[in-house]
Amino acid sequence: MSTIFSQIVAGDIPARVVYEDETTMAFLDANPLAPGHTLVIPKDEYERLNDVPEEVAADLYATLHRLVPAVEEAVDADASTVAFNNGEAAGQEVPHVHGHIVPRFDGDGGGPIHAVAGEAPDLSDDELDDIAADIDGRV
Ligand code: 5GP
Repeated sequence: MSTIFSQIVAGDIPARVVYEDETTMAFLDANPLAPGHTLVIPKDEYERLNDVPEEVAADLYATLHRLVPAVEEAVDADASTVAFNNGEAAGQEVPHVHGHIVPRFDGDGGGPIHAVAGEAPDLSDDELDDIAADIDGRV
């Protein structure tokens, strides 16, 4: 069973497509958080960011890079929040990687990306050092 976004790629479900190339596509979100709310996807179906092969990840970033100013200019936005819900626990509902470009406006009442997590943890310097070393050891 393919994802709803694969069905958009296949042309089986209509969408307001704003950009398409060999490996990526961008279209307006059906339930926009702001005018111009756009989703950028790899055409092939990968659930999470880490499932995306490196060359497709580069294409995906290039499309985001291209789309952000176009979206902002189209709706005369002051800024944009660009984010991925990466996994169910982070709020990902469609299991097909997609970057959200949400245009932002001065005084729009929204929050920064810092508002998305739960209560901020109180971590000691040692704990921070351990976490940094652990991440560094895995890349
Ligand atoms: P997620 O929570 O997975 O990060 O976001 C999924 C997004 O996809 C939501 O913002 C939702 O409005 C959007 N969406 C879900 N179904 C469709 C659809 O059929 N067409 C379009 N254009 N957007 C969709």
